[in-house]
Amino acid sequence: MSEITVRNLTVKYDDFVAVEDVSFDVPHGLHIALVGPSGCGKSTILKSVAGLIPYTGTVDGTPERIGYMPQKGVLLPWYTVMKNLTLPLTLRGISEKEAQKKVESHLEEFGLKGFEDKYPSVLSGGMYQRAALLRTLMVEAPLILLDEPFGAVDALNRRRLWLWLEERRMGWDISTIMVTHDVEEAVFLSDIVIVLDGPPARIKKVVNVPLPHPRDIHHMGTPQFAHLAEEVLEAVIER
Ligand code: ADP
Repeated sequence: MSEITVRNLTVKYDDFVAVEDVSFDVPHGLHIALVGPSGCGKSTILKSVAGLIPYTGTVDGTPERIGYMPQKGVLLPWYTVMKNLTLPLTLRGISEKEAQKKVESHLEEFGLKGFEDKYPSVLSGGMYQRAALLRTLMVEAPLILLDEPFGAVDALNRRRLWLWLEERRMGWDISTIMVTHDVEEAVFLSDIVIVLDGPPARIKKVVNVPLPHPRDIHHMGTPQFAHLAEEVLEAVIER
């Protein structure tokens, strides 16, 4: 997979400019976080990269298949967990049986074993997010776009999920672009943090995160981690 390049991205909703002249790169296999206040245009950038909305400028190098996890409504409530998880595969023509086999091989690791036949409404917040993530990964795409993947999860479980995603992600050859307004989440899960301001969304600062992968809980307590989080936070609150 080649590097993804976003150049002079501008998005308008009628006359309202939501994103203005945003350019950045997503190097192969690296993880990008888009950080900024609510409403600044982060989701709009993600939707543009996913090809879901019209824009001006260019987005080059995106793979044919992209896994996109929107903020809400990832799992269809009228389908069981298993059916939700097999859907990205069966939509591509893979047989139900084969899709189930594939999903089953990940259930344990995603903490969903025994919940295959349940409906999304009975899952806890953390379980729902893990199921939504697994569903996104089942697209088997080299690029995944995550829109506040842990937004609905409490602070403690959120950290648990960070560790869990970081560990799981090591085995998949993917790049991610993740939207978040949690500075520590951005630093822990990314190689490059793009701080935005808006609307319209504009890049304020780009912070490189040179911490090695896989990262674990000890990285969160290091002076380097604290320094990086401070650098991002300063850029976020700077006027
Ligand atoms: P963020 O993800 O940073 O919270 P969004 O990208 O969702 O921000 O929204 C950026 C701005 O665009 C906001 O002011 C929002 O109200 C506006 N917006 C988002 N979607 C639409 C839409 N479909 N029509 C009109 N305005 C929209």
